[in-house]
Amino acid sequence: MKKVFKIVFILLVLAVLCVVGITTYQYNTYAPNPVTQEAVSNNLVYFQTSYEECRNNFILLAEKIKKKFKNVRISKLKVESKKDPDLTIDYCYVPAQKKFKRLLILSSAVHGIEGYVGSAVQQMFMKELIGKVNLADTGVLLIHGINPYGFKYNRRVSENNVDLNRNCSKDNRLYKSVNAGYSNLYGMLNPEGKVNLRSVGNVFFQINAIQKIIQHSMKTLRQAILQGQYQYQEGLYFGGNALEPSIKAVTPLLKEIAKNYEIVFNIDLHTGYGARGTLHLFPMPIEDKKIKKDLENIFSGNHIDWGDGDDFYTVTGDFTSYIGQVLPGKYYLPMVFEFGTLDSQTTMGSIKSLHNMIVENQGFHHGYKTKKDELKSKTDVLEMYYPSSDNWRSKAIEDARRILSQAVTKFESIER
Ligand SMILES: [Zn+2]
Repeated sequence: MKKVFKIVFILLVLAVLCVVGITTYQYNTYAPNPVTQEAVSNNLVYFQTSYEECRNNFILLAEKIKKKFKNVRISKLKVESKKDPDLTIDYCYVPAQKKFKRLLILSSAVHGIEGYVGSAVQQMFMKELIGKVNLADTGVLLIHGINPYGFKYNRRVSENNVDLNRNCSKDNRLYKSVNAGYSNLYGMLNPEGKVNLRSVGNVFFQINAIQKIIQHSMKTLRQAILQGQYQYQEGLYFGGNALEPSIKAVTPLLKEIAKNYEIVFNIDLHTGYGARGTLHLFPMPIEDKKIKKDLENIFSGNHIDWGDGDDFYTVTGDFTSYIGQVLPGKYYLPMVFEFGTLDSQTTMGSIKSLHNMIVENQGFHHGYKTKKDELKSKTDVLEMYYPSSDNWRSKAIEDARRILSQAVTKFESIER
């Protein structure tokens, strides 16, 4: 009998080792589903390799628009910084040409590093779609690089390690709020010491993560991690202690421009969430039935992720909701575009995404053990928010063109 137990025990150990081995191999060789649709060269002209280049191209296109329409304003807001004197949020405002009724705000790089794709979409919009907007009664405000520090230095967060999409609120109580679930995961999310990609914790990261998923459920974990937290300044998803300089800078602009319009429609551009090569329409939860219906109409034929799926989570202090807060009395339609990169809707994809973020944040605060580790971590993060694949980029522009072109036409018929 003893012998039987021994054999069963050995078999169990072998089975566990096998599972660990397979998942570790799968995890460390993970790649999302490639975009197979061939790239079109016309779509690739909108992508550049630095914040400055993106900004310059944005301004060049704005100058062209200025020649075509009346009273176009091109300007910039300087973002206060201790590290860099050349951080600006640039904008181009095309006012309604006859009657002020509707305003479209197309904004990019609330998450700095996501600005490459955001800028590309804005550039495409300026070159190809501005003429499709009914400018007689509709104004357009393009805001470029809301987090210029993160954009320039390839970080998602601001200079103060703040996630701007967790930082926005008119109510200071936000910064006192406590995300209890996050504290329980603090150690896993914020390892200390220099990054060593060959450490046990990193090579077997997925084992730790899967164990946490079994313990807490994916939904609970996703919510605890992604919601935002206001206690740990160096931690992931830190939402700040007060409004960040970027948000402070952009608020008066939003108020001033929106003042004369009845209806305001914001599309905030993001990357990194969802299925690779898919443009997800991913607004914050909306209760108001008319707003939901109007957004369904504007984007009809496209799926809107209203937050009823399993991979849904809510965040506090997001930028699109904030625009509504600072524009009381306006009829306000918020929308977020998310260009998926790493298949984060899958378990492996979401673990990989999280791991990339953890390592990058740890490396920023504590450094890297080797140059190779630093390069690998930075490349992975850039790839996650700005894929180098031409097919991916081309598809992103094609989807944005199709959906935005429909949206601006349908927006014309929206009444409050
Ligand atoms: Zn984002």
